[in-house]
Amino acid sequence: MTVEPATASRKNADQPAIVEYRDVRKLYGSFVALDGVSARVNKGEVLCLIGPSGSGKSTLLRSTNALEKIEGGTILIDGQPLPTSATEIRKVRQRMGMVFQSFELFPHKTVLQNVTIGPMSVQKLSNKAADERARAMLQKVGLLHKADQYPANLSGGQQQRVAIARALAMEPKIMLFDEPTSALDPETIGEVLNVMKQLADEGMTMVVVTHEMNFARRVANWVIVFDHGKIVEQGHPKQIFEDARQERTRDFLSHLGWNG
Ligand code: ADP
Repeated sequence: MTVEPATASRKNADQPAIVEYRDVRKLYGSFVALDGVSARVNKGEVLCLIGPSGSGKSTLLRSTNALEKIEGGTILIDGQPLPTSATEIRKVRQRMGMVFQSFELFPHKTVLQNVTIGPMSVQKLSNKAADERARAMLQKVGLLHKADQYPANLSGGQQQRVAIARALAMEPKIMLFDEPTSALDPETIGEVLNVMKQLADEGMTMVVVTHEMNFARRVANWVIVFDHGKIVEQGHPKQIFEDARQERTRDFLSHLGWNG
């Protein structure tokens, strides 16, 4: 278990954590995917999870909203352990927006319908209220003018922005991003990262699994480095990217061509 540096000051550290991982252990068969992971996500923080492929970042993110079941340890959401009953899990998930690498929009629904469906079916908002909220979210991601288009007519970056608007329309307390730009053409990555930066600037609590080191360096308040299912090191981005304490962190960054 890696202990957080005692000297590091965290955003809103005096307030209860939105998410707390305590000694989390996850197995796939006999393979240990998460091995004693302890960390917290404070209100309004942007936490980036970085590290080599297969190191457990996505597994931790997916465990946060119970898409993966953990074998050991505890995950606390707003101070409460993740529930086990399907009904209670659904309630917890409603407070967490999740954005995946693949956008998973409904192809036969318009952009607007993709964003209104959650608030209408889950939160029982009226058609009008859901429509208003969806338009506001599409405005936020810069795609209100595409409201009546179908996903297939949008670029990958635009579809991912719709997926972000769809998650935001549920008014989540926290947004979880699982490599949101990995499947995108290089020219559309920036527009998605800009929307994410804007959300961060507005104070949204975010956990982001990413290979975009410039984003992590620039936007994260806190960076966690994974390797082989364990946290190697965690700290402020400046420290991680300019003065990493662990050789494995330095190796990982130098393999990516990062030289501070
Ligand atoms: P990362 O996000 O850091 O790339 P993942 O969390 O996706 O890593 O995966 C961690 C490890 O767990 C990898 O070795 C991966 O192959 C393995 N893994 C992930 N999902 C499954 C699964 N459903 N079944 C078996 N192994 C899995």
